[in-house]
Amino acid sequence: TDSKKEKLIKVHVDTAELFHHVLLNTKVGEEALQYLLDRGLTRELIETFNIGFAPAERTMLYQYLSGKEYDQTLLSETGLFVERDNGELLDRFYNRIMFPIRNQQGKTIAFSGRIFKVEPTDGKAAPKYLNSPETYLFNKRNVLFNYDLARANIRREKEVILFEGFMDVIASWDAGVKNGVASMGTSLTNEQIHMLDRVTDHVLIAYDGDNAGIEATKRAVDLLSEETHFDLDVLSLNEGLDPDEFIHKYGAASYKEMLAHGRDTVFAFKMRYYRKGINLQNESERLAYIEVILNELLTITSAVEREVYLKQLSVEFDISLDSLNTQYHQLYEQKR
Ligand code: ATP
Ligand code: MN
Ligand code: MN
Ligand code: MN
Repeated sequence: TDSKKEKLIKVHVDTAELFHHVLLNTKVGEEALQYLLDRGLTRELIETFNIGFAPAERTMLYQYLSGKEYDQTLLSETGLFVERDNGELLDRFYNRIMFPIRNQQGKTIAFSGRIFKVEPTDGKAAPKYLNSPETYLFNKRNVLFNYDLARANIRREKEVILFEGFMDVIASWDAGVKNGVASMGTSLTNEQIHMLDRVTDHVLIAYDGDNAGIEATKRAVDLLSEETHFDLDVLSLNEGLDPDEFIHKYGAASYKEMLAHGRDTVFAFKMRYYRKGINLQNESERLAYIEVILNELLTITSAVEREVYLKQLSVEFDISLDSLNTQYHQLYEQKR
């Protein structure tokens, strides 16, 4: 066994416990707690995800852990501190709501801290979420938020739901959707894809409905499509909402209805994706769009599915099914 790893995990577990205690039981945690309650989190949810608060004072964690007789070298390797020029360690996370990031065994190996009120400006704006840096324990490429808790549910549901953010995973969990994980703001890595691969063939991509989310969805669709055995769907939320916002605006029942019946096939998603910014009144733009779509159709192996989409295109653009079929087969021959 790896004793350095064990020790580093122990520091993270102690740290999570401290932050969690501060959030729930202290005066300095009150404002952060109120923020979370206002966002619709329950105490039960705060417990399940072991959410905490790192206060503004930047020596609290260091003092706490020093009292536990961890040595300085170990502490500096946790990523939980920043080192001053004089070698002194300062808490990296301060005045942030703390989300523990767990490994596949459910052990905390890193944190992400969310800012929740405007900080006194010291020059540049602070990022909304601040993550632990890469450490001996934490390699972001290998981690999906909530994988440990979701795994059994993914197997049972035979599907994983992929979210952008922590709050989407957490709000979904509260709504009874417990097979969700998040890649934490970066594009999917091969390592993460293999983690999914080990537990399921079905992936529902449920990224934010804003432009950034739609672009990220396209990238995720392309990456996951390279692994031919994944069965992919896309959840497209209107009004630029993310899943957490959707749940709070329309309720858990509507959300679950969307997940069950409001999802798009990859092809339907791509049709909408390529349609953006195209003026269909313009003859050449319209023809170019149709050609892009027909090219996408080449990747669909089911003849029945292809037929459905060809009919859809035919109605939508008032082109005979015959000529669409002819053009489709021309492209097919070219690509062979
Ligand atoms: P919230 O609902 O709390 O505002 P969010 O999850 O909706 O958060 P987004 O802006 O949609 O936030 O970002 C999605 C995810 O991307 C976040 O959950 C976080 O994991 C990651 N992320 C966002 N901003 C940053 C940042 N500045 N640095 C690192 N990661 C970030
Ligand atoms: Mn977003
Ligand atoms: Mn979001
Ligand atoms: Mn959000």
